[in-house]
Amino acid sequence: MTTSLKPFNTFGIQADASRIVIAETVQQLKDAWSETVAAKMPVLILGEGSNVLFLEDYSGTAIINRIPGIQVTEADDAWYLHVGAGENWHHLVEYTLQQGMPGLENLALIPGCAGSSPIQNIGAYGVELKSVCHYVDCVDLLSGEMHRLDNSQCQFGYRDSIFKHEYQDHYAIIAVGLRLPKLWQPVLTYGDLTRLDAANVTPQEVFNAVCHMRTTKLPDPRINGNAGSFFKNPVLAAEQAEKLLSSFTTIPHYPQPDGSVKLAAGWLIDQCQLKGFQIGGAGVHKQQALVLINEDGASSQDVVDLAHHIRQCVGGKFNVWLEPEVRFIGACGEVSAVETIA
Ligand code: NAP
Repeated sequence: MTTSLKPFNTFGIQADASRIVIAETVQQLKDAWSETVAAKMPVLILGEGSNVLFLEDYSGTAIINRIPGIQVTEADDAWYLHVGAGENWHHLVEYTLQQGMPGLENLALIPGCAGSSPIQNIGAYGVELKSVCHYVDCVDLLSGEMHRLDNSQCQFGYRDSIFKHEYQDHYAIIAVGLRLPKLWQPVLTYGDLTRLDAANVTPQEVFNAVCHMRTTKLPDPRINGNAGSFFKNPVLAAEQAEKLLSSFTTIPHYPQPDGSVKLAAGWLIDQCQLKGFQIGGAGVHKQQALVLINEDGASSQDVVDLAHHIRQCVGGKFNVWLEPEVRFIGACGEVSAVETIA
């Protein structure tokens, strides 16, 4: 019996898995994993499928991590939250604000669940998970042992962490620990937030502004399937950036602390006149070119062809070769997204 993965990926791409298991406890997750491995079949753990593209049917078990629970501990200087991996991220942001615990407001409306947030170190409007993450609890599915990784052990980077490397294959994140300092400092460095008055603004106002920016600029996955930013913003070495900026003086660019320079990938795509461009059922979002959408019953091949076309156009014009942020899943597991669209 096959089962559709369409409800389990925000791109809304049709693909089947051999089996789908909803895990609400650590034990259910471990059991589903062990049974599948014993049957020598591939196994994949998903949260809300908000950063994946299924290239074809998955010939194994997809375990949907739905471990619930939010526990709060109050200390003199901060609130400490222990959050089950399956909690919806945006609901968590709303809950913390309702309880008077600010700190997550810039990260409002990010699709996905709490357990996925450390994997790519989710970030928006100048705040990354890294700045609030206290620890990540995961289980080594081979040994059954629990591991608690503190913030530095998670090796957070730009849309990156240890969970994309050493801890990728047989570890499952089961909970995330957050620390929200009571001394709240608004982060108002991005977009419309720069117009807010740091001395008087409330966390709710920052939350409202973020929600407004996101809902006006980014597609709602319930209407047009998508996986958020499709490509990473390229980060160039200083010399390469200097050369490019001498030819294209208006490129928005953001110098990084290590001397490298981040470029806005959406701007590069827009300069190739690709907003609204479609291949089959897949299209480039009209408001934010960094987001590819399932316009109308897109197949994964439509998305791959569109991503290839974008990469070629941007590479041809700027000699900057975009890399997907979205993870590509083939029949037996993750495959190289860059090689797939090259
Ligand atoms: P935007 O404001 O149009 O800006 C384009 C890019 O320029 C952003 O991606 C951002 O990089 C960078 N940027 C803008 N202002 C900056 C500043 N003051 N300092 C440093 N870098 C700056 O971006 P947007 O598409 O509307 O997204 C707004 C935020 O939400 C961004 O932080 C973006 O990363 C985040 N977001 C993430 C996803 C995802 O799927 N990962 C999807 C949508 C939005 P950074 O991306 O490095 O911040």
